[in-house]
Order: sequence, then C-alpha cells, then structure tokens
Amino acid sequence: MNGNTQSGVPPAAGPRMLLRRLREIMARPDSAQTRLDQIVVLIAANMVAEVCSVYVAVPGDQVELFATEGLKRSAVHQTRLKLGEGLVGTIAADATPLALSDAQSHPAFAFRPETGEETYHSFLGVPVLHSGRTIGVLVVQNVSPRTYTEDEIEALQITAMVIAETLATGNFGTAPTAAATDHGQKLSLHRLGLSLTDGIALGYAVLHEPRVVVDVIISDDVEYEAGRLNTALAELRLSVDVMLASSDLALGGEHHDVLEAYRMFAHDQSWSGKLEEAVRSGLTAEAAVERVQNEMRARMLRQTNPYLRERFHDLDDLARRLLRHLAGKTTAPAAEDLPEDAIVIARNMGPAELLDYDRSRLRGLIIEDTSLTSHVAIVARALGVAAVGGFEGLADRIEPGDAIIVDGESGEVYIRPDLDVVSAFSDKVRFRARQQAQYAALRKVSSVSREGTPFTLDINSGLLVDLPNLDDSGAAGIGLFRTELQFMIASRFPRFEEQRRHYRAVLDAAGDRPVVFRSLDIGSDKVLPYLRRPQEDNPALGWRALRMALDRPGLLKLQMRALISASAGRHLRVMFPLVADAYEFGEAKALFEQEMARTKTRGGPVPDKVSLGVMIEVPSLLWQLDHLLNDVDFASVGSNDLIQFMFASDRGHPRLSQRYDTLNPSFMRALRKVVEAGERMGVPISLCGEMAGRPLEALALVGLGFRHISMAPASVGPVKAVFLETDFQDIELFMASLLDRPGPTIRPQLVEYAARHGIEV
Ligand code: PEP
Ligand code: MG
Repeated sequence: MNGNTQSGVPPAAGPRMLLRRLREIMARPDSAQTRLDQIVVLIAANMVAEVCSVYVAVPGDQVELFATEGLKRSAVHQTRLKLGEGLVGTIAADATPLALSDAQSHPAFAFRPETGEETYHSFLGVPVLHSGRTIGVLVVQNVSPRTYTEDEIEALQITAMVIAETLATGNFGTAPTAAATDHGQKLSLHRLGLSLTDGIALGYAVLHEPRVVVDVIISDDVEYEAGRLNTALAELRLSVDVMLASSDLALGGEHHDVLEAYRMFAHDQSWSGKLEEAVRSGLTAEAAVERVQNEMRARMLRQTNPYLRERFHDLDDLARRLLRHLAGKTTAPAAEDLPEDAIVIARNMGPAELLDYDRSRLRGLIIEDTSLTSHVAIVARALGVAAVGGFEGLADRIEPGDAIIVDGESGEVYIRPDLDVVSAFSDKVRFRARQQAQYAALRKVSSVSREGTPFTLDINSGLLVDLPNLDDSGAAGIGLFRTELQFMIASRFPRFEEQRRHYRAVLDAAGDRPVVFRSLDIGSDKVLPYLRRPQEDNPALGWRALRMALDRPGLLKLQMRALISASAGRHLRVMFPLVADAYEFGEAKALFEQEMARTKTRGGPVPDKVSLGVMIEVPSLLWQLDHLLNDVDFASVGSNDLIQFMFASDRGHPRLSQRYDTLNPSFMRALRKVVEAGERMGVPISLCGEMAGRPLEALALVGLGFRHISMAPASVGPVKAVFLETDFQDIELFMASLLDRPGPTIRPQLVEYAARHGIEV
C-alpha cells in the first residue's frame, strides 16, 4: 500500500515521468510542507516502494523526519537522528547513498518505534545535497528484502537533486539554510579561524556566489544537450587559457604551477566523460554538471587528505564556471559592482575565481573550507590579500555589504563590528603602517648591536612568492629554504628540470645573499599525497625526512643533482634535516659527493663552492656534538623540532602549545651547549625555528651567544629593532646568571631585563 490515491497524486511511471511530475508539484503555489508531502507520495508510487521519507538537517547536527509516505505520520517532526546515528544519520554524515536489502541487520541501524518501520526490510537512502552541503536525506523502503539496482539509486539521486531546491528555499524554519543565519538581527560576530596570509583589511562583504540555479533537470533532446555541453566545455577551456595567459600572475612562481594544474583539470577527459554520460542519461547539460559536481562534493566531504580536497575545490570551481557558460553568465564581477574595499566571502573557492575580482578593490578574503597550502591561499598571498579560512557556516551569517574586518595575523574576523572595534582596528592599521615604515627605515641600518657586535638576520622561505620579502625585510639572506613546499603543492613529484628552475629562481632573487637549501623534509605533518606511505603510529618519530631519503635515495639524489646544476658557478649551501646520529649526516654527505662527481664526469657545470650543514633538531645530537660538528661546514638549530623532542611534546597539539615554555632554562642550557660546541669546533651555528622571530626569545638567543638567526620575514624588522638597542655582552652575562635556575621559565626575568634597559620587546 502506498496510499497515493488518498493524497490525490496519481501514480506515475519511469524516472523521466517522475521528474516531470516533480517539477509540476514544485511549480505549485503550495507551502513547502505541502509540496514535500506530495513529493514523498509521488516518489513512493514511482519507485514502487511502500515508504518514501524526507529527512531535513536541523540545528544541532541532527536530521528530522519532515515528510513520509508509509511510515507513521505521527512521527513527522518528532523523529530525529544525530549525524552518524542510524542509517539516515550515517548517510547525512557521509553524504553517500546506502542501499541495503536487510536494513535491520546493518550495524548502524537504529530502531525508532514511533515510525513503525520495523516491517520494512530493504532500504535505499541518498543524501540531498545543496551547494556542497548535505541538507537532507531521501529514503525509500520496501517490505520485502530486495536489491536496489544502480539505475534506481541513480534515479533517487536525481530526484534528490530536484527536491534540494525545495528544501533549501522552502523556509521550513528549522532547515539549516534558514536556521543557521541570523540575517536581520545584525549581530556583531567575532570568529577565530586559520590565518592564510598576513595583513589586516577593513571593508565590505561581497558574497562569492557564482552558483547558477539549475531549474530544468531533464530533456528529451539528448543530442541538443550534448551539443550545448560540448560548446560550453570548449568555451570554458578557452577562457581558462586566456585567463592564465593574460593574468599578471602568469609569469613564474608556484601560483603559476597551481593555475597550470587548474588548466589540466579543464582539459581532463574523465571529467568531460562523466558529464557526457550524465547528459546521455536524459539530464539537461546544467543538471548533468550539477549531478557530477554533487557526486564530487560528496567525495570531497569524505576526503580527509587536504591535498585531494584541494583538487576537488579546483574541479568545483571549474564546474561552477561551466554552469555560468551554459547560462551565458560568464562575465567576471565588474569592478564597479564591487565596493571600494571588497572583502570576498566564499564557502570554497578555486584559485582562478579569486583572479576574477578586480585587484584594485579586493582587500580581504574569507574562505570557509580551505587550508594554509590551498591553491587559493597561495594565490591570495601572491596578490597580497589579507585572508583567513576555516569558518564552517560563516557565509550563511553574512549579508552583502556587511562591514567586515579580516585580521590575517591572528586569523580573526569581525562581522558587523561595533564602532569601537572598527576604531581599534583602524588604529592598528595605522600603527602597522607606521611601524612598517620604521622597520623599513631600519633596512639600511647596519646590523650591529648597541656595543658594536655584528649580527645576521635571515629569513625563512619556501615559495617563490615569498622571495620579494628578502628585499622588503632587509634580511641578509635566506637561512632556511624549505624545499618540501614545492613538493607539497605539486600534483606529482616535481621533475628534475622543475626543481632546477625553482632553485635557480631562488638564487637569482637572492643575488649575492646566501641561501641555505634544506633537503626534502617530508613525513609527519608534511604530507605529499602522491607519495604512498605506510601508516605510522607516531609519524613525527617515524620514517621521515633524511631517514626516508637515505633508505630510498632516488629522490634525494635527484634533488641534489637539481641543486648542483642550479647553483653552477655560485656558492651552494645545503643542510639536512632530522639527523639523529652523526653517521646519517655522513651518508647524506657521501650521497651529495657522488652526485657532484657524477655531474663533473658528465661535464655538467658545478657550484664554485659547496657548504654542507646539519640541522640540530634531535636531542641525541647534543651528546655527539664534537663528532658531528667535525664533519659539517655549518649547523642550524631547528628549535621547533628540538623542543618538541626534548619535552616529548607534539608541536602541533593545541593542548600542549602553552605547556612548556621555549624559555625553559633546561632548553636554554641545551642551546648554550650547541653554541659552545660551535665555538670550540670553529663551526658557524645559527637557529631557524619560530622562536628566532619573537623579540623576547631572540633576546635570549643573543644572550646564549647566537649571532645568526633566521625567521619569518615579518619578524626581521621587530627583531632588528631590539638587537640594535641591546648590549650583547651585557645580556650574555645576564643570561649566564639565569641558566642554572630551576623552574619552568626565565620569561619574567627577561621581560624585567628588557624593561630595565629600555628595550621594547
Ligand atoms: C624546526 O624544526 O625548527 C625547523 C626550522 O624546521 P621545520 O619547522 O620546517 O620542521
Ligand atoms: Mg624541523
């Protein structure tokens, strides 16, 4: 019994007929609830199912039964499941269909007596997706155990697409798209997210909503739709090519590689193949794009690998562009339609979409779902746009034209900020501008301490887009070039020539200034998604960095070859990370020398001079310093890792980040030990962990005897300002008096010292 006659909806047959009838229902001026009630009856009849139910996502990470044909109607608006709970909650959480011939034997099955569903054995449920979110679940059930065919699953998914519009725009009061917003209330909001690029921007919201609403789902003319699809695909490819060629970012830099990858997707045959297949199944070209895109988004939601999520964003970006081509709405947001100070807010965004915005008006960017190394973040950095990410659901809380503050430094956003917040930030922007001007004025001042000791401040870098920082900061050189970043943003291992070009560009930008290349430091949190790695219980302590390179030397050899070739006629400096025993450095050095010999034998040009160094990051080295330093040209302390391993405290763990102070006296003693060994062995020692860029910590470092440190570019000015005011000999004496103290930190003593000597830290 499906009761369709009671609801006044005559039975229909076949998916096409179903879709047509659904459209008729949706066009009626009935309330959203009435439409849903009619829809479930229609679907149940069409799919010859005893039950059809629609569950809608409601606040509190739950789904609620909104309409049913077949289950007890008294359960409507009563039955709720948490995400991940029961079969329906599982579909909502995973955003994937579930087809079962015996639902009750499934481990996730959760019995809800009020629904009366115990008599139904087979179960088919699909997510209702809208703009990349699961906004509901559509379910059919049958009494007898049966296996749903692929065609039936597909038909139900297409049906879910049609009803997505009703759910999203239906104003159910509790539906997520309505409930999650506080439009109209004009509340000030403050959120903390992920800092993607530096900088502060005050401006007005522009919602990045290039989404085209697909209202015609099916077509009787497959050839016509296939023709439209092909024309739109050709236009899309051409427009991407033109955009890349004309973009002022087109020349060099990894943003160029990023955009090249994007171009590759536009020409991807498997994507166009899927689209074509969807059109051949009877969908309009637009519905086919949305269908494939929905499937992709569902896969993206399940994807934990950040790199692959990023690839999906690129494809999502392309799909939205394709829809705009189909709809004939291809023009980029016109400059005059943007506010003077535009802050663009996007759920997610591909790199090319950001380039569509007029750069002279674009100040800030907020992206809900992204990561530090995302392609759009890299492009934002290259454009100098203040950007923050990681705010789930934020786009729903913002209206176009809302006043917004983006603080890229802290990762904060303020929406509709109060006047005192605006004024505080305006002050901050002015202060930063003044400070930057002061630091800029220090660029040419020689790096000599108050009593005349020379010091060297370098920057840490890893991307070509960072390189202008070398000039801007006035740093002496690049003390740490993290070569793995090129590998992390690529879609496969960079080839020899790509690596060589990358290193050459770095050396060219540095000119006479020294650059220390750190060999590939991958593993742990630095993931190369195209590199298969064994599952590890303790990846930070695992098969990573130099360990991996020595076991599988092909990669390291290629990298050394590229570095040797790129540095022809210059001074090449290479250092090796995560050495835990001096013999490992010896092996790396031998490998490097083999590559030098090989290049020479083949008549290739080689560097004029080579210096090989070691990173001191593993505490075991503290007890073999003389032996180690005997073999190296220089050493650099990787304090981020050294402190994590000394205190057995995960450097990325939010609960532990405040637990052990960098200014812990035992850590200070360890650093002092390294400096003394360097002096004893005549080996230059530097330090390139994050602490070098914090003025108070930097003060401690000179007190320990360091004269050469490397830091984030923005820290060079502030640290230099402190060093120019500091008497190095005096602070050395002071630090010596603190080293044997017990207790967790010498921070208060150093703060007091700075205050006493008029040093602003
Ligand atoms: C360090 O460990 O201090 C360091 C500079 O290297 P990374 O942060 O890249 O591990
Ligand atoms: Mg390290």
